[in-house]
Amino acid sequence: MTVSEYPIAFAGAEAYTPEIIFPALTRAVEASGFTREMVAGRRVLLKPNLLMKRRPEEATTTHPLVVEAAARLLLDWGASEVIIADSPGGPYTRPLLHSIYETCGMTAAARQSGARLNEDTGFTTLRREENRLVREFSIINPVMEADLVVSVCKLKTHSMTTLSGGVKNLFGCIPGLQKPELHLRFPEKTDFGEMLVDLALTVKPALTIVDAVVGMEGDGPSGGSPRKLGFLAACQNPFLLDLALCRIIGVTPESVPTIAASQRRGLCPEDADALSLAGEVQFARPVPGFVPPHAKSVDFLSHTPRLLRPAVSRLWDHLTPRPVIRRKDCVGCGRCAESCPAHTITIVSGKAQIRYDRCIHCYCCHEMCPVRAIDIRRTRFFDL
Ligand code: SF4
Ligand code: SF4
Repeated sequence: MTVSEYPIAFAGAEAYTPEIIFPALTRAVEASGFTREMVAGRRVLLKPNLLMKRRPEEATTTHPLVVEAAARLLLDWGASEVIIADSPGGPYTRPLLHSIYETCGMTAAARQSGARLNEDTGFTTLRREENRLVREFSIINPVMEADLVVSVCKLKTHSMTTLSGGVKNLFGCIPGLQKPELHLRFPEKTDFGEMLVDLALTVKPALTIVDAVVGMEGDGPSGGSPRKLGFLAACQNPFLLDLALCRIIGVTPESVPTIAASQRRGLCPEDADALSLAGEVQFARPVPGFVPPHAKSVDFLSHTPRLLRPAVSRLWDHLTPRPVIRRKDCVGCGRCAESCPAHTITIVSGKAQIRYDRCIHCYCCHEMCPVRAIDIRRTRFFDL
């Protein structure tokens, strides 16, 4: 397997209209080398990023027109069935899924394309002996029942993993609150990245499509700002795709734990210059002034020898960006407390409160707050 076998294919898409998105998505998928023969007669699982209940224009979730176009193309190419499924942040229940599908535009995407929305909230254990850190994952049933998985991610920044692209999107194959449990099990970014690479190798998406018509910059994956980028991309290899995305948004591969882990394993070259590009390759260029997440560069605990970590961990706790509740904006809904793997958030008098001594800096609370009442604040030390 060589890098040139898996080109990263780009297609310009100025705006979210069906007339623009379907042809652009078709161009990108065809240029990636993915063919109708790979799809014909197969049951395909389409995995968008449905992190939370947000409207498409907020750029937190994969745009429904991109999901609809992908489903249409797969059905045109002879897929026996296309199922749209994701396990969003928070509990994995049918009522919550319905409400997220509706707000994120997935109900309409399924209706327009002929795809089916998943309603099964069960999961199954999947083992892969060759994995390095996690050999056994709980995986949502529709992924297990599909013949192939097509991931449709959103290009976003991420306060913990710097980039949310193809590999990170697969975290939604883990059911509900088992995701925060994995954060607690792997609080250090290096291990968390290794775990996500194990997960990607276990789920093995046949194709990853990126919605970068409008991405997210700043404190993603939910608290950042929409940023128009104007393209779609597709690749059969999510590790190579993420390296290309990393260059486009101007962050270093070392700052993205999934890319660093895939490079350590020889799944991805060190340099994005080695990647093979196809289609409208002008969109592979770095985007000037793209705003990275605040927390991206502060992770020296991962790079400290294990024996020394206790000694530096108190300093690290002080210097690492922390979640801070803006009390005036907090509506006391409890989503942050529900998603906190360290159980260190309580609701007192209708407002969230964080006990920082147990915080593992995973930023799940920041991701899940529906009213963006949680900031990620850096210590002023780094401004000196
Ligand atoms: S308070 Fe927020 S950042 Fe800290 S452990 Fe809980 S969810 Fe993670
Ligand atoms: S901080 Fe956000 S998620 Fe937490 S209780 Fe307040 S409004 Fe809800």
